[in-house]
Amino acid sequence: TRLILNMSVVIVTGVPGVGKSTVMAAAEEYGYKIVNFGTTMFEEAQKEGVADRDDMRKLAVEDQQRLQKQAGEKISQMGDVVVDTHASILTSSGYMPGLPEWTVRALNPDVIVLVEATPDEIAGRRSKDASRARDSDDIDLHQNVNREYAATAAVMTGATVSIVENHDNQVDVAVEQFRRILNK
Ligand code: AMP
Ligand code: MG
Repeated sequence: TRLILNMSVVIVTGVPGVGKSTVMAAAEEYGYKIVNFGTTMFEEAQKEGVADRDDMRKLAVEDQQRLQKQAGEKISQMGDVVVDTHASILTSSGYMPGLPEWTVRALNPDVIVLVEATPDEIAGRRSKDASRARDSDDIDLHQNVNREYAATAAVMTGATVSIVENHDNQVDVAVEQFRRILNK
């Protein structure tokens, strides 16, 4: 198959536990490098003594923003990438944008993907993953906030927004939706 690649930056977002990492794994076949924004932030945070990636969202918002800026600048220099990240992060002072103006302008995405599932499905997946310290938040509200924040980042950059539904036992359908976005 001939692959026509005319997109360089694809941002994939979704609430914790929705399965975005699984859905986006197909991107490697299309020549994209997959970059996890949280991992890039955590590499910086570790130098400052943060021991667990799930502790970053509990830092002061100004510290999270500083780490976020450092990660955004690094990733913006990487070329063709699919970025695994969040449209919003639930902090103790509210929903912090994962793609604030300075970050989304630096990344300049072509597409912002929202991976979604039903709140029950997401709660079920979280309860099965003992490796992560997930919050027990209002999943429906968080997904609604994510749509609003993604829309704002899209309007700032001209990126399109695409919703991929990742329902239980239908990950192949979700991957196919995602492939279609990459293979435009
Ligand atoms: P994840 O493994 O995708 O759940 O990401 C781990 C952590 O990285 C999140 O809980 C956030 O603290 C942080 N993180 C990921 N993406 C962003 C972003 N765009 N802005 C701020 N923090 C982020
Ligand atoms: Mg993940």
